[in-house]
Amino acid sequence: MIQLQDLLEATGGQLLSPPNATCFTDFCFDSRRVETGQLFLAVRTDKGDGHDYVLDAIRGGATGVLCQEPSRVNCRHTTCIVVPDTEIALIDWARYILGKYQTEVIATTGSVGKTSTKEAVAAVLSSQFSVFRNRGSFNGLYGLPIALGRLAADHQLAVLELGSDHVGEIESLASLTNPRIGIVTAIGAAHLETLRSLDQVAKEKGSLVSALPESPAGLAILNWDDPRVRAMKDWARADVITAGLEPGADIQAIDVHVGLDGTSFAVNLENQRIEISIPWLGRLRIFAALAALAVGRAYDIPVPKIVTALANLPWLAGRLNALPAIDGATLIDDTFNSSPDAVLAALDFLDEIKVAGKKIAVLGDMYQLGDRSSHEHFRVGQRAAETVDQLIVKGELAADIGRGAEAAGLPAEQVLYTYSTDEVMRHLRRPNQKHPTGKGEQERPGDLILVKGSALTRLERVSQSLLAFPERDQEKLARQHPVFGQVVLSLPGRPTWVEIDVEATAYNTRRIRAMIGPAVKLLVVLKADAYGHGAIRLARVALNNGAECIGVASLNEAITLRDAGIIAPIIILGYLPAWSARQALLNGVTVTIFDLDTARAFNRAAAELERLATVHIKVDTGMGRLGLMPNQVLGFLRQLKALDRLEVEGMFTHFSVADSTDPHHRDHTDEQLERFRQTLAELEAADLCPPVIHCANSAAILTRPDTYFNMVRLGIALHGLDPSPAVHCPPDFRRALSFKTTIAQLKELPAGTPISYGNTYQTREQQLIAIIPVGYADGFRRAPAHWEEVLVRGQRAPIVGRVTMDQTMIDVSGIPGVRMGDEVVLIGRQGAQEITAEEVAKKLGTINYEVVAGILARVPRIS
Ligand SMILES: *Cc1c(COP(=O)(O)O)cnc(C)c1O
Repeated sequence: MIQLQDLLEATGGQLLSPPNATCFTDFCFDSRRVETGQLFLAVRTDKGDGHDYVLDAIRGGATGVLCQEPSRVNCRHTTCIVVPDTEIALIDWARYILGKYQTEVIATTGSVGKTSTKEAVAAVLSSQFSVFRNRGSFNGLYGLPIALGRLAADHQLAVLELGSDHVGEIESLASLTNPRIGIVTAIGAAHLETLRSLDQVAKEKGSLVSALPESPAGLAILNWDDPRVRAMKDWARADVITAGLEPGADIQAIDVHVGLDGTSFAVNLENQRIEISIPWLGRLRIFAALAALAVGRAYDIPVPKIVTALANLPWLAGRLNALPAIDGATLIDDTFNSSPDAVLAALDFLDEIKVAGKKIAVLGDMYQLGDRSSHEHFRVGQRAAETVDQLIVKGELAADIGRGAEAAGLPAEQVLYTYSTDEVMRHLRRPNQKHPTGKGEQERPGDLILVKGSALTRLERVSQSLLAFPERDQEKLARQHPVFGQVVLSLPGRPTWVEIDVEATAYNTRRIRAMIGPAVKLLVVLKADAYGHGAIRLARVALNNGAECIGVASLNEAITLRDAGIIAPIIILGYLPAWSARQALLNGVTVTIFDLDTARAFNRAAAELERLATVHIKVDTGMGRLGLMPNQVLGFLRQLKALDRLEVEGMFTHFSVADSTDPHHRDHTDEQLERFRQTLAELEAADLCPPVIHCANSAAILTRPDTYFNMVRLGIALHGLDPSPAVHCPPDFRRALSFKTTIAQLKELPAGTPISYGNTYQTREQQLIAIIPVGYADGFRRAPAHWEEVLVRGQRAPIVGRVTMDQTMIDVSGIPGVRMGDEVVLIGRQGAQEITAEEVAKKLGTINYEVVAGILARVPRIS
């Protein structure tokens, strides 16, 4: 309960009008989650302004509002308290209320395990006291005061976890809460973006220890097994108790047994041996129990009571829990959040468990690791290689986990790279994943599947899909509140970005795969960074969904894919000069040839490198572009016979008008096909026909099965884009790409104001103009024509004035509710409106290919 009187006294706030409600059940900062009787906090953060949601909150049942900009909120029938700064007011209130209730505080901090430690301590203390504890993620300077909204006068003790993502936060939290006992769990790589180094992290967490009161009042409980925490002993004025598994700890856990149903161990304390069992999994949790034991004894709780409390520790959703999964497997759900040390601890646990089936780990991105990110992901992968039989990584950063595992010896075919939870689930649920059923499932448990990733990766959805008893067990997973059903995307790193729906690509690939049948190979053409969609990611997605090989235009495109660890065959479809033959061979790429000199150069390079050069022959059957003329092919192949290092794997041609329905054009395609067939027949007669024959591009794939031969080259339709205005993708194909930006500034400009270079546009009346941070250096074309319109709040807003290199102005006068930071769609859907690449192409006087391929490299691609 929060009393209005306390709030006013603690914050010096002013009431906007006579109050309606004078006490509130809790604080609320997210209007989507508001409950009746709560006090809504209008807080301004980097990501948004709570003042914009006050009305929503009141509609949802809030009976009070704490805000700093009364002019922006309309809450006449609600109690509205105005303060200079909402966040500072909250902190003032927290200090006031802890003082008023005289609640004694036990605080825990650390990079991993602070929540479980808090829960264990609270469980033990609850056996004798009335105990308050803060909810997990409410542990920072902003979150903790919100959590204290539920503190009541009759709470005797508060067990608080303190979190920090910047220097000085723990010190502030300690001075706010004045803990008598402080517990430090472990120091690890988390929040390195702001805390930079492990020593810095230790200094930050350790400031809790220095803040504790002097002996005998104060008590620090330190994890003996972590050298950085151990060293904090010297920082304490309080008494210190160390606990851990290694010899030398004041409280040492011995005879440890780790199982799927819990963890047991013994300690020798006060001249007796105490046997302890906890339902939590893994060695990592033992410190939590030891700390709880130490705190319990500090409050004179009898040992048997402590042991009972520990045996009945509560379920912690998303934190290394074993649950029955499909096909007799066991799910190890650890999806609450992730950091390198937490993943390593989970892998250690996996390592310790013996199972009949396979060990599989699904590992997602770990965020906020700063410039150590790649290294830390790689390191986790190396450890995974030692513990798992199969690894599935999800996300851009997690790809380095896969690389690390491969580098440490996990075979490539045991590593799957994915970018969506659906892809992970499709793979895990495939029938061939079933464990070999033995005598019976009880005696022979199957696979062990660990699922872990940072909160934003939402891997609990994978866990959910694996549950054997979803109805019963779903609530045991993290983030089951409906608000989490709303999409959470990773932040793009720049307010202008391209979003790729990899599930659309996956779906389109599978559709084409089914269309061409099993006898035909599928090559995906990923030149020009996959037509602007991002080649590395798309290569993985297409290969996971039925593509067998990749086509690119140039060697550097091939090398980008090889450097990312992609081992599928890559064919360079364009011209490759003889002088890059060695580099091509070293990267294991297949090349296109159409003249003897180049062929000889490849042969020579192959001999020097002691390998074979795989080549495809290109024939020009009527495109007038690269390739031998049909009547030259037979002679050319005869000459190649002399080059013993050349393996002629394939032959192909390319259509010039397969995307047209015009009858003349159909005839031309027929003629091209006929010339290609004749050439093939000649080669067959001379027994010189290469095994792989291909000519179909997207348009031909969609309209002419007679062109398939034994491989097709899929380009534009992979992305759900139409090959031409005449040849469309089937209606169920899905467009993968959206191009988005955000409103950087809004301004009301009076009539007659010129806008942008050249003053080509002047406002006709008072107009609301928005500036968007996108320009021609992003591929948002300036001349001779531009996009004309973009989407804001589901409506079309016209571009006014010239497009500049990095910025563009749009008129949003007619659109209600536009705010700074609003998403602006340049290509894609927003509400009921959609701007397609085809529509843009028409305005720019070009084709959709050029529109998407023209989005430049500085625009980040996310999925
Ligand atoms: C680009 C390209 C393709 C793909 O064409 P789409 O029309 O995008 O399917 C196929 N083959 C060659 C040789 C190409 O250069």
